[in-house]
Amino acid sequence: MKTYKDRSSVCEDFINDDYITDLINDTGEDKYKVRDIITKSMAKKPLSVKETAMLLSAESPELVEEIFEAARELKRSVYGNRIVIFAPLYIGNYCTNDCKYCGFRKSLRTTVRKTLSQEEIISEVRALEDSGHKRLILVFGEHPKYSPEFIADTVKKVYSVKHGNGEIRRVNINAAPLDTNDYKTVKEAGIGTYQIFQETYHHGTYKKVHPENTCKNDYLYRLDGLSRAFEAGCDDVGIGALFGLYDWKFEVLAMVQHSLFLQEKFGVGPHTISFPRIKSVHNTLIDEKYFVNDYDFKRLVAILRLAVPYTGMILTARENPDIRRELLGFGVSQIDAGSRIELGGYSNTKLDERKLKEQFSLGDMRPIDEIIYELIDNGYLPSFCTACYRLGRTGERFMEFAIPGFIEKYCTPNALLTLKEYLMDYASPATINLGDALINRELSKFSDEKIKNELVSRLEKIENKGKRDLYF
Ligand code: SAM
Ligand code: SF4
Repeated sequence: MKTYKDRSSVCEDFINDDYITDLINDTGEDKYKVRDIITKSMAKKPLSVKETAMLLSAESPELVEEIFEAARELKRSVYGNRIVIFAPLYIGNYCTNDCKYCGFRKSLRTTVRKTLSQEEIISEVRALEDSGHKRLILVFGEHPKYSPEFIADTVKKVYSVKHGNGEIRRVNINAAPLDTNDYKTVKEAGIGTYQIFQETYHHGTYKKVHPENTCKNDYLYRLDGLSRAFEAGCDDVGIGALFGLYDWKFEVLAMVQHSLFLQEKFGVGPHTISFPRIKSVHNTLIDEKYFVNDYDFKRLVAILRLAVPYTGMILTARENPDIRRELLGFGVSQIDAGSRIELGGYSNTKLDERKLKEQFSLGDMRPIDEIIYELIDNGYLPSFCTACYRLGRTGERFMEFAIPGFIEKYCTPNALLTLKEYLMDYASPATINLGDALINRELSKFSDEKIKNELVSRLEKIENKGKRDLYF
């Protein structure tokens, strides 16, 4: 079994449960300090753990509303209206772990086990491409079947599938933590972000929900997982916590701590942060003591937005459309659309055993076109852009939110070009109308004539000359 012991000389446990718990208990509400911290966030300065604790201490509805409004304002003025669209693709649900909350855990005998065959991967990717997707996240259980070589081969297979104008241009990974050399194997296959959620940063709870004699029981091996990724040259990583296992305030502070740790040690923080809430699973009783209600969920998303200014925030289809709609306004930057999480669920629409191959149940099952339509209708700019990582613009020197002019020069033009492709190839007539109007409105906002003219010329090539995959 993999363990942390061989790395104990180079890695530290940077999560101190007592320190975080004391901060939560000892920080009282102080509206003047909260306002000062909000001002710091507005200048896109990362918050310390202590400052984040001060935001978490705000309980009075008026002060919480100020925090919500600050997150909305930061979203409007700094991050703009782009929302990046992706889809999850579950590759296999065999698992040697026994995480108490998960539908893939080994002791759950009612789960139908499956790994997609090569042909099934091709069918799934074709179905995803046929609906307009360009970015996927591949999801794996933890099992010897899913070796680094298997993950790498799967990534290459996904990239190789081309259907009509469809192709997948960015493949992210959500899988078990690897050893340093193994990250090199998956990186060579051309992955984007490597995501590992710590699930809970609270040591005692972690041990409780990840039974002994499973790989995942080793807290530090997991905590150190993304540091090993950095050491292997993967500078694009995603962190996350599964909300509902322990006190949500503790998890928020620990994620901020993790983010600051990576920033300090490797010069670049996590590319994305995820905050899934636990969903129900067949034949599974999950202790509800720490479940997070919608109001607190909104608080945690708003506070994370204020605390980690350069980090993309991912909100998945675990959540229902209403809450997704509301939280987009708080600075969420990526959502999945048209998602299916049962193995083979994109190409096989028969409902027979689907539920028993799922990890949990989804809250938002709307088709991608409906979500794209709604995003545009609500003033957002859906983006399928994959330019940065393909041009090597990752890591410290290329943090889209950190560099003045970056968004106008690259992100918005690329969002418009990829939206135009979507409208030409996959959209319904209603979405086409709305989308073309959005593109015209966005064009009128450009201040740099050179970028605008080049963009207009490329949009024209997509529309009239059948060109695809043009990017800045
Ligand atoms: N097996 C790998 C691991 O555990 O890191 C990656 C895949 S796992 C299927 C992806 C994530 O799903 C987990 O990290 C966990 O946060 C989340 N998850 C597990 N059970 C869940 C549930 N019942 N509801 C919502 N999310 C869940
Ligand atoms: Fe396996 Fe991951 Fe589920 Fe745990 S969360 S049982 S490791 S798939």
